[in-house]
Amino acid sequence: MIEFQDVKKVYETKKQAFEALKGINLTVEKGDIFGVVGYSGAGKSTLIRLVNLLEQPSEGTVLVGGKDLTSLKPKELRAEKKKIGMIFQHFNLLNSKTVFDNVAMPLVLSGTPSNEIKQRVEELLEFVGLSNKAKNYPDQLSGGQKQRIGIARALATNPSILLCDEATSALDPQTTNAVLQLLKKINKEYNITILLITHEMSVIKEICNKVAVMEAGKVVEQGSVLDVFSKP
Ligand code: ADP
Ligand code: ADP
Repeated sequence: MIEFQDVKKVYETKKQAFEALKGINLTVEKGDIFGVVGYSGAGKSTLIRLVNLLEQPSEGTVLVGGKDLTSLKPKELRAEKKKIGMIFQHFNLLNSKTVFDNVAMPLVLSGTPSNEIKQRVEELLEFVGLSNKAKNYPDQLSGGQKQRIGIARALATNPSILLCDEATSALDPQTTNAVLQLLKKINKEYNITILLITHEMSVIKEICNKVAVMEAGKVVEQGSVLDVFSKP
């Protein structure tokens, strides 16, 4: 489903080049909840952002559903990117737009007819349990509610992959757990493959089946969560 093959990423800054990823090999299979864990600066965010081309690899290849997205023509790339949803630590909602319009955004951008948008957004808000907030604005919501809206927006185009960038790091433990259970439900009921990054081991243990541990731009350990964490 997602394959990293000898991926390197170098950030060029004014004075020097910094190698954030030093040869990554990883395979995320369909149906996985795959967690990447590591300290701040390990390269997790860079890794996940390569999947939907928020970053491009300096060397090596990232395959998504067997395709190297960097090689696609714009039209085909747009179609492939609709299959990848993403949620963020700070939610990245537009504060000037209502909850309804935030969730509708990817559908508006992809030219979906407005009657279909209405139906789909209502369905999504019901799924995340926030139908009653459609007309509210993001700053009228709690952190957990904002992330539910982020999730609804990420699911709008019916993706097969959901990328989660420290999705629960800004939330308290109770809210974190509710969001994790929602991710589990999304994985199970919609068969959406989840790739998440976190600095919290507890998140990995709660919902992931596979894990990769990153340190300083390298994967130092990977496998099933049971195997990796039962080692002495
Ligand atoms: P993590 O998500 O594990 O905290 P990141 O992928 O955000 O790690 O960052 C890995 C390293 O790359 C860090 O040392 C960071 O400072 C550096 N880095 C990230 N983005 C950039 C950038 N746009 N330009 C230069 N260096 C960057
Ligand atoms: P952090 O995890 O450091 O808080 P975010 O995950 O909030 O950062 O944002 C990561 C990057 O994603 C930002 O550089 C931002 O420009 C970009 N971004 C913001 N909103 C979206 C979106 N809806 N879709 C894709 N990329 C986005």
